[in-house]
Amino acid sequence: MASALPHTGVMNEMRVLIMDGDGIGPEIMAATRRALQALDARFGLGLEFEEVPIGLAALKSIGKTMPDDVVDRCRDADGVIMGPTDTAVYPPESEGGIGPSKLLRSELQLYANIRPSKGVPGALAPDMDLVVARENTEGFYADRNMFQGSGEFMPTADVALAMRKITREGSMRIGRAAFELAAQRRKYVTAVHKGNVLKMTDGLFLTCMEEVAKDFPDVKWDEEHIDAMTSHLVRTPERFDVVVSTNMYGDILSNLAAELAGGLGLAGSLNRGDGVAIAQASHGSAPDIAGKGIANPTALMRSAAMLLAWRAERDANNAMAAAAEALNRGLDTLMASSDTRTKDTGGSLGTAAFAEVLAEQLKT
Ligand code: NAD
Repeated sequence: MASALPHTGVMNEMRVLIMDGDGIGPEIMAATRRALQALDARFGLGLEFEEVPIGLAALKSIGKTMPDDVVDRCRDADGVIMGPTDTAVYPPESEGGIGPSKLLRSELQLYANIRPSKGVPGALAPDMDLVVARENTEGFYADRNMFQGSGEFMPTADVALAMRKITREGSMRIGRAAFELAAQRRKYVTAVHKGNVLKMTDGLFLTCMEEVAKDFPDVKWDEEHIDAMTSHLVRTPERFDVVVSTNMYGDILSNLAAELAGGLGLAGSLNRGDGVAIAQASHGSAPDIAGKGIANPTALMRSAAMLLAWRAERDANNAMAAAAEALNRGLDTLMASSDTRTKDTGGSLGTAAFAEVLAEQLKT
């Protein structure tokens, strides 16, 4: 493992913390690093990679899925890329099974999970071009909505309860993130909720959207119930620009959008707070195809492009912006022909071969 590198103050320097994760994680991460190295050679990004083993590999070596210093190392890095983790098979926390997303999203307050879905040719929704802005730190997620204890509990062996936490602060900040995003796009926000039934929690969320909207007079907004929204998304996917929602609705809706747009293997995402961002594909560790060399690395690569773009905007760094754009264009080019696609999108390239073709493409 590389030791922490000092900041040197050089204009183009980006220390990237890499965490492979489980299942297909190591395969898609290797491919993503290959693409980033090609971009580094072309744009002089000054990328330095540090690796931290997490997940099942870390459980084996250090007895827990997340090392103690991981939060500080994320905070200290200029950007973080994390592979998917197979949390479904982790032991309880008392036996070392710490949920990586829970830990990092809570500790680093990565409140905005930004998940774009742009339809590709041949997809169920080729004209879709939307971004889901999902609240990432509260809602129904039992592992992150309590100060102590779990948001899920069983008063008796036959009764199981789950609590959903919605706060003004959580709603206001995801609302602002969504409206700011829309202001740079087609200036349209759809807030998704179930306020007809969850009148207090989703009512508070909606009130916050109304308040945020007042600061963005040029952005049009409306709202949809989550159940109706799934129908609208299938029927008229091209209608939506930025879709903002609470944690669980946003998680589910973004996977639906990803599948309509071409598949989970294409769905990038960025988890960001006010100072830290973690690139993480929308999909999971795909245990059914792990180790076969056939996983599509596009989702993680798109996430890495989002990280570069985030950093570019934060630091007004043109080289980072150009690299992000080149990576996205390169991926678009590979998607345009079945000769340069992976199996899940109708091609035959393996993960590593896909990365090599892309790296060649990224040279110019
Ligand atoms: P999944 O997203 O791993 O897989 C769903 C389907 O999509 C599978 O058929 C899989 O093969 C396919 N798929 C996913 N990514 C792909 C890719 N890059 N290329 C080609 N095909 C791909 O969902 P799951 O099976 O429900 O979950 C598996 C594990 O991942 C579970 O432990 C779950 O908790 C975890 N998970 C982790 C994250 C994360 O780390 N952010 C997100 C979701 C699920």
